[in-house]
Amino acid sequence: MTLMNAVVFPAFGPPDVFRAVRVDRPEPGPGEALVRIHAAGICYHDVLSRAGRIPRDRPGQILGHEISGVVEAVGVDVPAGRVGERVVIYQRLYCGRCANCLAGRQDLCRNSRVLGEQGGGGYAEYCCVPERNLITVPDVVDLDSAALAVCPVGTSIRALVGVAEGKAGDTVLVTGAGGGLGLHQIQLARALHMRVIAVTSSPEKVEAIRAAGAHEVVVSTDGAFSAEVWRLTGKEGVNVVLENVVSTTLGESLRSCAARAAVVILGNVEARPVSLDPGLVIGRRLRICGSGNATYGDVRLALHLMATGAVKPFIHAALPFRDVGEGHRLMESRKTIGRVLLKGW
Ligand SMILES: [Zn+2]
Ligand SMILES: [Zn+2]
Repeated sequence: MTLMNAVVFPAFGPPDVFRAVRVDRPEPGPGEALVRIHAAGICYHDVLSRAGRIPRDRPGQILGHEISGVVEAVGVDVPAGRVGERVVIYQRLYCGRCANCLAGRQDLCRNSRVLGEQGGGGYAEYCCVPERNLITVPDVVDLDSAALAVCPVGTSIRALVGVAEGKAGDTVLVTGAGGGLGLHQIQLARALHMRVIAVTSSPEKVEAIRAAGAHEVVVSTDGAFSAEVWRLTGKEGVNVVLENVVSTTLGESLRSCAARAAVVILGNVEARPVSLDPGLVIGRRLRICGSGNATYGDVRLALHLMATGAVKPFIHAALPFRDVGEGHRLMESRKTIGRVLLKGW
């Protein structure tokens, strides 16, 4: 058996719980491909997993679902020509047979898991996945950037285009605008000819938020931003809210909405229940929707928007895999501007 480097967390705990280990390198079986990992993004979901805050998670596994790399080897019935191909990995291992899969919504497969949830993820030198999970990266997109195609860029496309059905001319409110999701949502909304009002609690992130293309930036240290949004929209309100924060912002987001607005919940930063005012939801005919993993189509659109330069990935830092603990600490500090990538050993 060939060995490879990986980082695992033997128990739930703080960022320094990670351990660099040598484990068996997986071998591609029929229909599978082995990918040499170029970069893996650190998602806030990974932070919650490591801390033991995701129900049913178990410690010990190799986390990570934001993976770019190069095909190293393929199983017997996979075209040998794919070896050497630059790819991102579609993050969900799905059955391909259930009603949702057959409808092209592999992101909703009931018989599935996301890479890294029970191991086999991106915090390693290699990972092995079904060939159908490989998505080709256009030549003009570098593999650092490509690691962000599934999440955060694809996730943002799912929320704004797939779930909210945002369209040109809409006004979009982005909360937690300086975070990994927010900065990419701003660029995406701009690329789709929407007006963007960004809300942040961090004055030091305003410059990056403007650089991402926000038309208006509201710095709200006390959490009260709806009056300013109301003013900025001439008392019309916003058509779409991309809620990346939720626990401290949802009430004010709802108060910022135009009639029939879509409020998309993506973030679960504090992982706790929130209250809401039913009168407001009824009065304004609001649609409150959850959004999650990107579809294949979303990932392809993400790569296309990167290839055209419409979305330029924000990468805060690229750390060696062994420094994954430092990467998680950075994510928890909420001081990062864009994604933290793991790259190289
Ligand atoms: Zn992610
Ligand atoms: Zn399925």
